[in-house]
Amino acid sequence: MMPNIKILDRDIETSLYIFSLAISFISIGGFGIYRIIKGDLTLASIDLSVSIFLAYTLKQVLCNTFTNRHKFLIIVICMIGVAAVLYNKGSSEIYWAYPPITAAFFFIDLRKALPLNIVFIAIVLAILIPEITLPQFFSISVTLILICAFGYTFSARTELHGNECIKLAEIDPLTGLNNRRSLTDRLKKEISYYQNNIQRSSLLILDIDHFKKINDTYGHNFGDRILVKFAKTLKKTVRETDKVYRYGGEEFIIVTCNTRLFNAARLGEYIRQLTEQTLIVENKPITVSIGVAEVRKDDTHETWLHRADHALYRAKGANRNQVYLAHGDKNSCTYKPYVRTIKNKQLEREAMLQ
Ligand code: GH3
Ligand code: MG
Ligand code: MG
Repeated sequence: MMPNIKILDRDIETSLYIFSLAISFISIGGFGIYRIIKGDLTLASIDLSVSIFLAYTLKQVLCNTFTNRHKFLIIVICMIGVAAVLYNKGSSEIYWAYPPITAAFFFIDLRKALPLNIVFIAIVLAILIPEITLPQFFSISVTLILICAFGYTFSARTELHGNECIKLAEIDPLTGLNNRRSLTDRLKKEISYYQNNIQRSSLLILDIDHFKKINDTYGHNFGDRILVKFAKTLKKTVRETDKVYRYGGEEFIIVTCNTRLFNAARLGEYIRQLTEQTLIVENKPITVSIGVAEVRKDDTHETWLHRADHALYRAKGANRNQVYLAHGDKNSCTYKPYVRTIKNKQLEREAMLQ
């Protein structure tokens, strides 16, 4: 089974949440106790409420039940807490307004963090306006806006890099096709579509015949050019809704969305003939063997792939340059060559009606 590559190590992210929540919980809770001792019960109750909520979210993180709603609530509650402190204590506590602004970009989605911060900055300034001088107003508003702008820029850049990494991880650099990693997601989706009676799809696995010989005779670079040309042919041949993947080496996969077995096999036969007629090296055609399988309700992506792979194996065993299909249910799967005879046309019709 292919390992699931993660762009950002979840453990590091979780550790950062634990670290920042623990620091905030201890420091704000500590302030709460200090204020009780000093007799400042209003501010003590604000600090302790925020601190208790932070302890609750810390528990959610530790129990792996930390959701986006929790993240959003942490920021909103901290902002309300800061606003309440500023209202009671005035501008001397302004430095508490900076952490939630940066934390918003860390905890929540960029598109929610920005408007939330704008509202927060407006509320902070509205609270402080009656008691601060004009130069103080400018200093506070400019520094709050700058911290928000830098947080936004940093967060946007991180998101962009993350998307680029995902693209790099999912695209095969030689052919530009999607690779094996994104195939698994697609197959899982198609299986769930069929389980929910939305659509029934098929997959074709295609393996260029005697490719090693091509490499050995004409060199690896020439082999690469053949792979690129074959990939382009596949891309041009399939419908826009179908997906083409480079499965590895000289193996490719087509997921034909909303397509039953015999229609997928017909596409396979078309590609087989097209390859034989157009991919010619020194007057000798390059050929391809193809296995086809339709999704079943009890499939996992592995069992579905396995059936198509077995059909391909049978095509290879039958002297290559063939399309084989996996036909039948879980208990009686048979592997047959796709030949469009009158008898098979009848079989096709019957199978489509099932
Ligand atoms: P068969 O008909 O049984 O499929 O035989 P084959 O020679 O195609 O299969 P085999 O698995 O023996 O060899 C596959 C070859 O594909 C071996 C490997 O060097 C070559 N190959 C794998 N990846 C690449 C690549 O990225 N570029 C090139 N040029 N060759 C590759
Ligand atoms: Mg192979
Ligand atoms: Mg091969």
